[in-house]
Amino acid sequence: MFIKVENLTKSYKTGEVTTTVLKGVAMELHKGEIGVILGPSGSGKSTLLNIIGGIDRSDSGTVIVDNIKVTKLTDDELTDYRRDFIGFIFQFYNLIPNLTVGENIEVVANISKSPFSIDEVLEAVGLLDKKNRFPKELSGGEQQRVSIARAVVKNPRLLLCDEPTGALDFASSREILKLLQNINKRFGTTILMITHNSAISGMAGQVYRVRSGEIVERIMNETIIPAE
Ligand code: ADP
Ligand code: ADP
Repeated sequence: MFIKVENLTKSYKTGEVTTTVLKGVAMELHKGEIGVILGPSGSGKSTLLNIIGGIDRSDSGTVIVDNIKVTKLTDDELTDYRRDFIGFIFQFYNLIPNLTVGENIEVVANISKSPFSIDEVLEAVGLLDKKNRFPKELSGGEQQRVSIARAVVKNPRLLLCDEPTGALDFASSREILKLLQNINKRFGTTILMITHNSAISGMAGQVYRVRSGEIVERIMNETIIPAE
């Protein structure tokens, strides 16, 4: 199993108040699969994704990604893990405004162990002709495509997407989802995505429905291609 999460718990303390965000979560995903974690705002999706991606820590439980016991890594090892294994895509694109599209991707390629070429990933997201443009000259959907290219260029073993279509209209969202499917096929990248939008979950091979920090349902879709 490529991702295996077992009995994961996480609480936050704010002053006197303790909020339990993850209450013994278990999930798994095969290599090359697309998985979606679906649930309402505040149900713990981002916390789960961030622990899997090594940008947050659990209180107890186990996360294994590609045979790496993420929950046992030291801080330094987590830094390497994030850099070498994980591509992140967020709702907001966080592109560097004074760098061109190509340069935004180059920054990541330069610190990666075995990057794809910048032109190859730009071609994959259909933006090779915008390589020398600046982020502000692009639409929101195009900026998100750049952020996908930037996440993919490092040749990540796992692509983690936090509400990647959250800031986009319906048509742009569809494009982004198709693009993620193409990335999955073309580069064989395993993708785990979180969303509150149940319309999106149709694209995934597996859907985990989460509510108040617990997995309440696991859905295996027969087809991973959404209807036109
Ligand atoms: P996330 O689920 O990651 O918080 P958003 O902040 O984009 O994503 O919120 C998703 C949707 O849920 C938005 O339409 C937003 O208006 C709505 N929403 C956000 N927070 C709440 C909340 N506390 N209660 C009800 N609806 C919310
Ligand atoms: P989702 O992604 O499903 O919207 P989150 O994982 O972002 O849910 O948040 C789950 C709960 O944890 C929310 O109630 C949120 O307010 C709380 N939470 C998240 N991060 C922190 C934090 N750093 N400190 C305190 N509470 C947090």
